[in-house]
Order: sequence, then C-alpha cells, then structure tokens
Amino acid sequence: MEYIPQILFSIILIAGIGFFAQNVKKLSRNIKLGKDVKINDNKKQRWTNMAKIALGQTKMVVRPIAGFLHIIVYVGFIIINIEVLEIVIDGVFGTHRIGLSVLPVSIYGFLIGTFEILAVLVLISVVVFWIRRNIIKIKRFLSAEMTGWPKNDGNIILYFEVVLMCLFLIMNATDTSFQSLASGNIVSQFITPLFSGLSESTLHFIEQTAWWLHIVGILIFLNYLYYSKHLHILLAFPNTYFGKLTPKGQFKNLEAVTNEVKLMMDPDADPFAAPAEGVEETEPEKFGASDVTDLNWVQLLNSYTCTECGRCTSECPANQTGKKLSPRKIMMDTRDRLVEVGKNIDTNKGTFVPDGKQLLGDYITNEELWACTSCNACVQACPVSIDPLSIIMDMRQYLVMEESAAPPDLNNMMGNIENNGAPWPFNQQDRLNWSNES
Ligand code: SF4
Ligand code: SF4
Repeated sequence: MEYIPQILFSIILIAGIGFFAQNVKKLSRNIKLGKDVKINDNKKQRWTNMAKIALGQTKMVVRPIAGFLHIIVYVGFIIINIEVLEIVIDGVFGTHRIGLSVLPVSIYGFLIGTFEILAVLVLISVVVFWIRRNIIKIKRFLSAEMTGWPKNDGNIILYFEVVLMCLFLIMNATDTSFQSLASGNIVSQFITPLFSGLSESTLHFIEQTAWWLHIVGILIFLNYLYYSKHLHILLAFPNTYFGKLTPKGQFKNLEAVTNEVKLMMDPDADPFAAPAEGVEETEPEKFGASDVTDLNWVQLLNSYTCTECGRCTSECPANQTGKKLSPRKIMMDTRDRLVEVGKNIDTNKGTFVPDGKQLLGDYITNEELWACTSCNACVQACPVSIDPLSIIMDMRQYLVMEESAAPPDLNNMMGNIENNGAPWPFNQQDRLNWSNES
C-alpha cells in the first residue's frame, strides 16, 4: 500500500512520455515524406540563427508589446518547469521537496521564489494575450482561417497556462512545511491566508491534489503540443537552424530547365555533352508541387512549426489589398494536408492509399497562388524563419510546367518570350521599326 502512489506516478509518467514519443515518431515520419534536401553548409551561421531567433526571439520583439510578453511566457514557462524535475524525483521515490535535501535552504528558496515571481508574470502576460485575442480582437487573429479549431487552440493553451501556474502557487501556499521555511514563498505567502482556518490534513490534501494535478497537467500539455500550433515551442529550434541562408530574392533554379535554356541560347553548346559535376542528368519526374509529398522536408517542417501568429499575412501586400491570399493559410493548409496524409498512412498500415485529394485545389486554390507578388514580406516577418513563398513558387511551377495553367497574361508573356525573345508581341525583325518613323 505504501508504494501505491509511487507506482501510480511512475505509470502516469511512463504513459505520458511514451504517448508523446509515439507522436514524435509520427511527426518525424510525416516530415520525412517530403523530398530530401541536404543542408550541411554554414553550420556556425545556422547555430547562431537558432540561438538568436529561436532562443533569443529576436524577431518577436519587432512588435515590442507582443514580443516582450511572449518572452515572459516562454522563459517563465520553461524555467518554472525546472520544478518538474523535483516533482518527478519526489513522485518516483516518494520524497517531499527533494531539493531541500540537496541544496541549502537559501538557494532552494531563491529558486522557488524566482519561479513564483515568474509564475505571476506568466499569469499577467497570459491575461493580456487573452484580452488581445478575445476583447480587443486584433485583426490578424480574426481572418477566415482563424475560426474553429485554430481559434480555440489559441485560447486553450492560455487556459492551460493559467491553470498550471495557479496549481504551482496553490501547491506552495498550502505546503505548511515550505511556508514555515519562510524562504522562497515570495508570492505564495500572500495566497496562504485564503486557506486559513483549514485543518492540517485538509491543507495537506489540497497541496497533494495541486501537486498531482500539476504534473498530470504538464503531461497533458506535453501531449497536446502534437495536436496544436504550440508545437513551435519545440520545432522553432530545428526550423531556424535549417532556415534559408541565401538572399531572400534568390530563387532556386531547376538544373534541367537551366540546361535546356543554355542549349537554346548558346549556339556552341553540345547537346550530347556530359552534365557538369553535381548537375542532375535527368529531368525531374514532376516539375513543382501539387501535393505535400512534392515539397521538401524543410517546407514540411515549416508547416508544423507555424505558430499561426499571422504576422506574415498582416504584412502581405496581396492580402492587404483584398486578394484571397494569406501566407499563414498556405502554411496551415500544408500542415493540415500533411496530417491527413499521415493519418491515411496510419489507417492503411504504413502505406498511403490515394484519396483523390491533393494540396493544390483541395486546400490551396490557383487564385491564391497567383495573387502572390513574390515580395518576400511574409518571409521577412516570420518570427520562426518560415518561408511560405517557397511553397507558393513550387506550386506555381507545377501549374505552369505540368498543367500549362498560368493566367492568360502570363501565358501570353511566356509565349512572346519563346517566339519573339521578348515579353512583347512583336517580331524581332520589327524591333528597329521605330527608327524609321519620321
Ligand atoms: S511573397 Fe507573396 S505571400 Fe509573401 S507577402 Fe509577398 S505577396 Fe504575400
Ligand atoms: S508563417 Fe510565420 S509569420 Fe506566418 S503565421 Fe506562421 S509563424 Fe506566423
């Protein structure tokens, strides 16, 4: 009987971590459905970017209020969770505040006191975030793609954080042995009077309940991440590491197309010459992307990392001028389709069974794709180095090269380039006619 709480705790802990690990496996499998790209270059620059952007949140503070509050929630939440280490050790070994056995009271008090202050700061920030979303109704949280689950998801995580922070403070406030230390109870000492008059056993019961709910809540939070935009807490790190390093306006060229153009433009080119080193000899099976499996794994990682913050959409000139395009929706659609493909694979024992759907058309329309000006404002605005434009360009490439489905104006222009060597509908031989005009 004596060991039942420890056994129960260990079972809950193993189940919580095990379920999370299973979902991480699925996540990794889904990301690997993307095409392979090798990214081994500029490691130093990549680590620096990760440290600055993901850890230092340098791009978040471009909008100072939201950025500052986000840093408080992020740092506070992470640091407070150091306390979980103590909870886990206590839970497994049946101890109580093991930290007090290994640390001097003053150090332990300093740590818990810091956690308590951070908990209050997190609570204040979360309340401000909730007000911004639900009372002030900031425009970027109200777009068409932000209804239903995405809207609820944004609020659920705020409620979660409030509950976890409150449980942490209640746990400390009702722990009579901790309060009697009078060290580290910087905030909880003001909550303790709320429980005055209760017997020692009732206080112990409340403290234990808060303790159990706190750890179970954290395990639920951990597992909730997989189903939520809050996966970015974890994925922002690899995503910023693998982010694009080349200048924003630089597009990747298809070697097969480049070679064709060179053959057309260079009269001395040898059509039978061996391809240069590192150049693909054969043309790709399919040009561009019509479904998630045509995108590369970094683009799929991007889609899982999207925080749905809408900074990209709020900077997008196409969106601002009333076009149907929202780069945030491009990322959300890519992720939703990827999740759908992943579920299909799970249901069909590891094999994808064609479901008659694809990213293009069923999720993202041609109209959205052609509304993009390729200005890169969305890429610049993204706080976690996501590149919605690369997906848009790959899907456009599919439309042009596989479907010949470019808008008429573009088709005319491309026809003119092909036939006349210029975007205008004039024969090359007529180019100098203007000089004959008197
Ligand atoms: S690149 Fe396209 S999607 Fe991104 S901001 Fe510019 S117009 Fe919008
Ligand atoms: S792509 Fe980046 S900026 Fe746009 S919603 Fe996602 S995280 Fe925010």
